[in-house]
Amino acid sequence: MSNTSLLSIKDLHVRYTTDNGTVQAVSGLNLSIEKGQTLGLVGETGAGKTTMAMSVMRLIAEPPGRITDGEILFEGQDLLKASPATMRKVRGGKIAMIFQDPMTSLNPIIPVDEQVAEMIALHNDVNKQESLKRALAMLETVGIQPDRAGEYPHQFSGGMKQRVVIAIALACNPALLIADEPTTALDVTIQAQVLELMKGLKRKFDTAMIMITHDLGIVAETCDHVAIMYAGRIVEQADTVSLYADPRHPYTKGLFASIPNVEEERESLAVIPGLPPEPTDMPAGCPFHPRCSKAMDQCRVAAPSPVSVGGNHLVACFLEGGAA
Ligand code: SF4
Repeated sequence: MSNTSLLSIKDLHVRYTTDNGTVQAVSGLNLSIEKGQTLGLVGETGAGKTTMAMSVMRLIAEPPGRITDGEILFEGQDLLKASPATMRKVRGGKIAMIFQDPMTSLNPIIPVDEQVAEMIALHNDVNKQESLKRALAMLETVGIQPDRAGEYPHQFSGGMKQRVVIAIALACNPALLIADEPTTALDVTIQAQVLELMKGLKRKFDTAMIMITHDLGIVAETCDHVAIMYAGRIVEQADTVSLYADPRHPYTKGLFASIPNVEEERESLAVIPGLPPEPTDMPAGCPFHPRCSKAMDQCRVAAPSPVSVGGNHLVACFLEGGAA
């Protein structure tokens, strides 16, 4: 992990208290992202991806949630120790977030140009006229022409709404963009357009990005680094080329085996047997052991820590020599 990382998460632990018991949503997560890099964070629903993102934004509702340990260093500052005033400047100004459903981010009763302008005015010392001028330029950058900029969110299609959300997110030129399943709610053809747009804008503004997804195809298209998450832990991470060429963790291998391949004739797709563990009832040892065909005795008693299998490729599995 580099000391000059834009964002460096160290040993993060987050838990929720629920009526059914304590949920350890994130356990000892280590992750870093460099300036301008795109990191794909992959995992099933409930793996802890969104909790990780909400922790970076300091948006975990307390209670029921609680960050119990760790550091989140952004540009060298630990966000977990930052004041509420600092976090207000960081959110939207330096780190922006895009959610799956654009309507959770847009105000239905305010025209979209004003919503973009509001974000610009909040983080920059500019008057109303200037913020509106910049908003129109930003909307044009994401493909919304000035003649439509004064319309309300309900007058736009899903894809266009997500473009507005992207305009708001990038309006203040943040150093880091966290996109949480940004295209999942969109039609497939629109998904491709929105992803292309994000890729282009990322390059144009040199923004680092964490792309949260369950789709390995999206990661291959957009990310230069990838981390695979399972039951609150990162089980494997590497640059995208290395990980796709040589996935090592049994869970990652299972994810790849379950992707349809048009060039290969298969009777049926391989599926990972079983289900992810109940968050309130995590198995002892390696959390993947109940589903792992390679599980050994030690896997049932201790969780492996990540080890390098070459360069930046880290794997948390006893088969790779991971220490308990
Ligand atoms: Fe499977 Fe054991 Fe590796 Fe976990 S540590 S993935 S159970 S082999």
